[in-house]
Amino acid sequence: MEITVVGSGTVLPELERRQSCVVVETASETLVFDLGSGAVRGMLRAGIDPFSVDRIFFTHFHPDHTVDVVPLLFAIKYAAREPRDRKLVISGPEPFHRFWAALTNVWGEWMVGDYPMPTVQLPLACRVPVETPDCQIFWAKTEHRPESIGYRLEAAGKTFVYTGDTAYGESVVALARNADTLLIECGAPAGGEVPGHLTPEGVARIASESGARRVVITHFPAFLQTDLAAEVRAAGYEGEILTAEDGTKFSP
Ligand SMILES: [Zn+2]
Ligand SMILES: [Zn+2]
Repeated sequence: MEITVVGSGTVLPELERRQSCVVVETASETLVFDLGSGAVRGMLRAGIDPFSVDRIFFTHFHPDHTVDVVPLLFAIKYAAREPRDRKLVISGPEPFHRFWAALTNVWGEWMVGDYPMPTVQLPLACRVPVETPDCQIFWAKTEHRPESIGYRLEAAGKTFVYTGDTAYGESVVALARNADTLLIECGAPAGGEVPGHLTPEGVARIASESGARRVVITHFPAFLQTDLAAEVRAAGYEGEILTAEDGTKFSP
């Protein structure tokens, strides 16, 4: 798996940072996790072909994680170099069918293609993982919204976990258990609580308790200009720490 943080920003508009989007390229497929504002152009900036997407997964329904699905599907329908017949699987947490029906009620004709586009509603608890040709995908409830979930990908003996938005929670620790790389949000500044988001102390707590080998910090407001990696280190996490920018790439 090759992972690209396409968008590392938050609800706050920033020129250099797009909203949440993570692309995972496996041996034969391109998977996208979240599609916040700017994600499609962010893929271009990061050298990823937006038309290559095979599967989309949403962590929750906040606009900074979902809105760019509209321009992405609009582009695939009307601007692809050749008409698409390859399927595009779109998955999100329960009640995803209701969310998707509302979205396609507004934009449907302009975004719903003639190619196969199955939608999958993931129950809050993962009983059976999603099997793709190259990896297994598990998920678990996060502490952010009633529907919010994070994802865990296992492929070729490596594990990658993406929290989406969350505060501290035991299910997040369990999801991240012994991950090779944990891509984790840090939406709250040190010492300042923001409901449903993690401070650097919260990042360190989840990372340490889960035994994650490396963390990559994302979804933080850059204007703070604090050294988040140093703050996570000071809070007691002993593994490797990276801070994402738009376009940051890594393997788990
Ligand atoms: Zn968010
Ligand atoms: Zn959110």
